[in-house]
Amino acid sequence: NESTELKALDLAHHLPAQADYQLLEDLGGSRIITHAEGCVITDIDGKSLLDGMAGLWCVNVGYGRTELAEVAYQQMLELPYYNTFFKTATEPAIRLAAKIADKMSEGNPDLKHVFFNSSGSEANDTVLRLVRHYWTLKGEPERNVIISRRNAYHGSTVAGMSLGGMSFMHTQGGPLVPGIEHVRQPYMFNEGFGEDPIAFADACVKDIEDRILSVGPDKIAAFIGEPVQGAGGVIIPPETYWPKVEALCRKYGILLICDEVICGFGRLGQWFGHQHYGVKPDIIAMAKGLSSGYLPISAVGVSGAIVEVLKTGGDFVHGYTYSGHPTAAAVALRNIEIMEREDLIARTREVTGPYLAQALQRLAAHPLVGEVRSLGLIGAVEIVAEKGTNTRFKGTEGTAGPLVRDICIKNGLMVRGIRDSIVMCPPLIISEAEIDQLVSTIEASLNEAEPQLRA
Ligand code: PLP
Repeated sequence: NESTELKALDLAHHLPAQADYQLLEDLGGSRIITHAEGCVITDIDGKSLLDGMAGLWCVNVGYGRTELAEVAYQQMLELPYYNTFFKTATEPAIRLAAKIADKMSEGNPDLKHVFFNSSGSEANDTVLRLVRHYWTLKGEPERNVIISRRNAYHGSTVAGMSLGGMSFMHTQGGPLVPGIEHVRQPYMFNEGFGEDPIAFADACVKDIEDRILSVGPDKIAAFIGEPVQGAGGVIIPPETYWPKVEALCRKYGILLICDEVICGFGRLGQWFGHQHYGVKPDIIAMAKGLSSGYLPISAVGVSGAIVEVLKTGGDFVHGYTYSGHPTAAAVALRNIEIMEREDLIARTREVTGPYLAQALQRLAAHPLVGEVRSLGLIGAVEIVAEKGTNTRFKGTEGTAGPLVRDICIKNGLMVRGIRDSIVMCPPLIISEAEIDQLVSTIEASLNEAEPQLRA
């Protein structure tokens, strides 16, 4: 049948992303997803799963939006493609830039320019080049060190993974881009268990300041961070963390960059994650929710102050064939209009986000659960061996998440297992009934995993 044929072809020819190719072979090939509607994905064998990950943290408006297909179709008939290299631009790219500028300007009126790329990784490559170019134009070329955080994820290109702080990525395909320093991440549950959150945040900020001083303040170009670290395990910092990081950047004249690839477009209940924390970055990277994943597009938001400096440097010799791709831009614009029309940002902040937080509280009493946390519609469940502590299962440390994830998938829920946690990031259209289903499936799967974990 078709399923068997496609799985064989997959194994013979296709190399999926972030995969153990031997394991895939042992499993008989990938799960082949054939269609999706709302918050539910369906595979070729007819199994349906509630998509607790919004694809890969991106399908914010959910699946099956006919109008996004229609917009793409119309744009392809009119002008499928044109570039922005020849002092040229297209209407969808211009209108999308203006729309993004409008969203960025909430509380940060100087953040009003947009550079387009196709992926989050490319956006961060743009960020890296832009920042170093900026300081060179300012006459400080030695200011080229970027401070990032351990366990950060900023993409998979050489620049993206170098900016990122995942040591298991750094050991593959190096050497890394030089001039990137990694500091402590604000991961309370692992690194500040039982501490006062304000004191813990202060210690994390002090780690940044210590690094600034040891490298030399006049060598630091920028600090980059995700408002909430996603792939690192949904690390939600104490509320005081970001304002203090911002103050530190201002103290030393360092640019503040927020990687909004996951947090942007409503995830934390604001258009951008930094708006939740009330800080004003100089540069932001966005992708994923920008088009809800319907087409690949990403963007870098840049302050007016930086653009004024760029104007002194002639050509900024940077860009991609697909920068400002009109079809992707038209789809992204309509995607944002859907979010506006359906008020998905306020709904996340006021209705579904609090509902998820409350539903997760039901899990807090589970004997395997050390902590539940969420902000807006992103969350995590920490799995521990000993209730009331952050002690993990010895011998299998770092594997409880994937184990419970596999059981969740068997039970009809797509979530991600990161080390010893389960993380979730459902479409912003998720209903309260679906949130209940998400949480009760995790609960049932934890129950099922418990004998195996304690064996
Ligand atoms: N930055 C963050 C915070 C991400 O979560 C991701 C992807 O998960 C990226 C960058 C890279 O985006 P892409 O996979 O589109 O290159």
